[in-house]
Amino acid sequence: MTFLDNVFRAGRIGALVLPHRVVMGAMHLGWETRDDGGAALAAFYLARVRGGAGLMVTGGAAVSPAGAGGAGYGVLTDPAFRHRLRRVATEVAEAGGLLALQLFHAGRYAKPGRAGPRPVAPSAVFSPFSRQLPEALPGTEVERTVRDFARGAVKARELGFAAVEIMGSEGYLVDQFLSPLTNQRDDEWGGDPVRRMRFGVAVVRAVREAVGPDFPVVMRMTGDDLMAGGTDRETVLRFARALADAGADALNVGVGWHESPTPTVQAMVPPAHWVPVATAIKAAVGALPVMASNRIARLAQADAVLAGTAVEFVSMARPFLADPALVDRSRRGLPVNVCVACNQACIDRSLVDSPVSCMVNPAVGREPVPAAAEHGGRPGTVAVLGAGPAGLTAAHRLALAGHRVTVYEADRDVGGQFRLACRVPGKADYADAIGYLVAELTRLGGDIRTGRPVTAADHGLLSRYDGIVLATGVLPRPVPIPGADLPHVRDYASAFSAGALAERVVVIGGGGVAVDLAHLASHPAPDRPARQVTVLHRGDRLGPRLGRSTRWAILAALRDQGVRIVPRVRDLRIDADGVHLVDAEGTPRTVPADTVVIAAGQLRNDVLTATVRRTGVWYRVVGGARDTSGLDAVRAFDEGYAAAHAFSRVRARDRVEEQV
Ligand code: SF4
Repeated sequence: MTFLDNVFRAGRIGALVLPHRVVMGAMHLGWETRDDGGAALAAFYLARVRGGAGLMVTGGAAVSPAGAGGAGYGVLTDPAFRHRLRRVATEVAEAGGLLALQLFHAGRYAKPGRAGPRPVAPSAVFSPFSRQLPEALPGTEVERTVRDFARGAVKARELGFAAVEIMGSEGYLVDQFLSPLTNQRDDEWGGDPVRRMRFGVAVVRAVREAVGPDFPVVMRMTGDDLMAGGTDRETVLRFARALADAGADALNVGVGWHESPTPTVQAMVPPAHWVPVATAIKAAVGALPVMASNRIARLAQADAVLAGTAVEFVSMARPFLADPALVDRSRRGLPVNVCVACNQACIDRSLVDSPVSCMVNPAVGREPVPAAAEHGGRPGTVAVLGAGPAGLTAAHRLALAGHRVTVYEADRDVGGQFRLACRVPGKADYADAIGYLVAELTRLGGDIRTGRPVTAADHGLLSRYDGIVLATGVLPRPVPIPGADLPHVRDYASAFSAGALAERVVVIGGGGVAVDLAHLASHPAPDRPARQVTVLHRGDRLGPRLGRSTRWAILAALRDQGVRIVPRVRDLRIDADGVHLVDAEGTPRTVPADTVVIAAGQLRNDVLTATVRRTGVWYRVVGGARDTSGLDAVRAFDEGYAAAHAFSRVRARDRVEEQV
């Protein structure tokens, strides 16, 4: 076997022949309800078809209004949604792609708007995830819901989809019937494991009967719900076998419910960590194809899973947001824009019913940067000042559009503050995100000059460009804490370096950088004694702006690693013994420290703005150089993209005006 040979083998799911063994998993995009005739959805899936995707699964299409996960979910009973889906299915099929429609019912996870129907579930058990108390479905309504799935499958076939996937995992309705935590019925739909299994099995059987033997039906099921008192292992395996008997052509195995207290998709979860859950299902179902999923970011990892286990397919979702050409680029040995599992622009947005994008690929859901030659435009020359995520993204997108780009970076290394994060446990891939941009920019002829600070004396140099992107980022904010100039006090930027931290570490700050530093400092390492780490912050909540999918997991990791978190501190003073403070109760305390790290905010590094303005050249200030309030990496990537878009548009407009 050679490179990725296990991935690049044809496979079969029912009557469907797949070109390779990677399936694009379902992602709710948030523009399913956009009134554009399906244009955005079609463009999204077509880009993935062109990038080599085999079988793709759509985001959940609710089989009834009560089943919609939120206001941004399409409902199959809505003719306008079906119209959009028909366009998507038709265009994907014409392009040679394979698209399965996911049939979805959120059950108690539904978050209805004010006018939406009340969530329904097997029993009236409050959902902490959606903060809803559902109504228990009467028996006749359960039967009707089964028929809704069957009707949805028939619609999918009529609309031109290649297959359906029934959403039965992550704690949605099928799981709610299966679990004793949420199914407290004592009728034919609950009361013992066999009756709790009955709903999911009935759905598969009804779908199979409705679409006939040749239309592929995939069941997405939970291999381990990671819920205390949830569905036991024996029931899960029995359920898998029953789904096979009911007519499923493949099982796509998910892990964990949305409300489970165990991280499954966060960066701290090691790659391929949950594969054994899928292999256990595989062992139970014999010849039926099984897909493994969760935290598989690269095709090389997928290949290793396929080589080392009996599962036939690997389902990857977010990596297809990060790089629509993931499959083709991997096959050709080109650098891939890797998903770093930050969840910031995808899952976290989806959880609040906002349209998703991708931190490292801000093109998702956006209008493409017009090519230099489009609309009569012409290539221009652009100087990008700063090689952090904002600057490199601008440079990459400008180069892709055909412009000539030179990046000037004062530091010896590229990546800016983003690069620092790659030492934090679980964030090693952050370095690859920067590496990808550099590799692509270089391939496209961009020029990156590191160790080359631009100053006011470069006014003449800058004046010769057609455009300037000012992306000089941020500087650590100095704080007026007595003792902050002592030798054992560091700013956060230097604290990320190897060997920067001693045994007792105090981090002063309450934002994401402070959390990352505490995680890094407290992480056990075999080559040094465990560190004692304390975080002091002024607010009530540590990391208040961290995303919903990640904050709880990272705080749990800090707790597990013994980090002490002291909120609402005031009157800080540092000396050789440590940090003196007054705590929330008004009691003076001293926290001993060998290293004190200040991670209490940032300042704009905008020293070049006046120089750039004086050139009279078109320019944009992006990322932290523009504004530090609410700054995060998503905004930095996004503004780099927007700057490239704006420059290309201006070139096209100027050209048109010249011609007029
Ligand atoms: Fe991956 Fe983050 Fe992009 Fe989501 S936003 S696809 S987690 S890189």
